[in-house]
Amino acid sequence: MIELLSDARCIDCNLCVKVCPTNVFEARPGEAPLIARQEDCQTCFMCELYCPTDALYVSPLAELRDPVAEERLEQDGRLGSYAHRLGWRREAGRHRPRPHVPVPRRDGRTVSAA
Ligand code: SF4
Ligand code: SF4
Repeated sequence: MIELLSDARCIDCNLCVKVCPTNVFEARPGEAPLIARQEDCQTCFMCELYCPTDALYVSPLAELRDPVAEERLEQDGRLGSYAHRLGWRREAGRHRPRPHVPVPRRDGRTVSAA
């Protein structure tokens, strides 16, 4: 479930508002969006993937609240870590899957996602 939007990192691009399939965020002129409907979050991670500044944290706990401290997330390097693990990179505000991302298979071998 979405747990945090960092005002310090947010650049008010409203990409999270656009990509969220369940309309969790509320856009606000000149301000960071508001997490207005946290209970509607489907834990799909789309907002976290698309955020160009790693300002969002989605907890893998889909049904439970998982309050987090921004300072702790920063210290642990968890802001944006989901996107980085999937091989997405931030490039001039755009996002592209990195080519040749090794994807582990059940048999222990890896294949390229490219
Ligand atoms: S994780 Fe998915 S459903 Fe939840 S706020 Fe982000 S985009 Fe919306
Ligand atoms: S996508 Fe990230 S930077 Fe853009 S408005 Fe949402 S939280 Fe802020």
